Amino acid sequence: RQVTLALLKPDLCADPLRVRAVVNILESADSGLEILHRRRLLWSEEEAGHFYAEHKGRFFYERLVGYMTSRAFEALALEGPNAIQQWRSLIGPTQPVRARISMPMTLRAMYGLTDTRNSFHGSDSPETARAELALFFPKFYPG
Ligand code: ATP
Repeated sequence: RQVTLALLKPDLCADPLRVRAVVNILESADSGLEILHRRRLLWSEEEAGHFYAEHKGRFFYERLVGYMTSRAFEALALEGPNAIQQWRSLIGPTQPVRARISMPMTLRAMYGLTDTRNSFHGSDSPETARAELALFFPKFYPG
């Protein structure tokens, strides 16, 4: 079993019904995932810039930091067999418009708004999952 870090980004969290729908999907047995921890938070520009440091200089960086600091969002620790890949499969491709064409049943296809406001994040490797879990849930994952 594996644990991964999921973010329900600000656009999704603006609508409690969407959050509820996503949590329902996660809690259904066939998601293969279990929510271990969950917290709501609001980022400063510094925190968003730290998390997305690898994208500094990209054309969408300012947009991304503005989006991620625009309002509260949720972090979830998800556990299950192959949790990292399982959550990334559920959310689908980065760009919702592409997701709607190639993977219409994915969460980004259903809820994503734009290339930046794509509603979800998932750790992409065991190393980043460890670091991201330590960042959002330091009490449970001291790193
Ligand atoms: P995440 O890391 O959030 O799960 P990802 O791994 O699918 O997303 P990354 O390439 O790490 O995508 O990009 C991080 C975030 O930056 C994306 O989730 C999206 O919000 C934004 N982003 C990525 N590519 C673009 C783009 N071409 N145009 C606008 N925003 C983008």
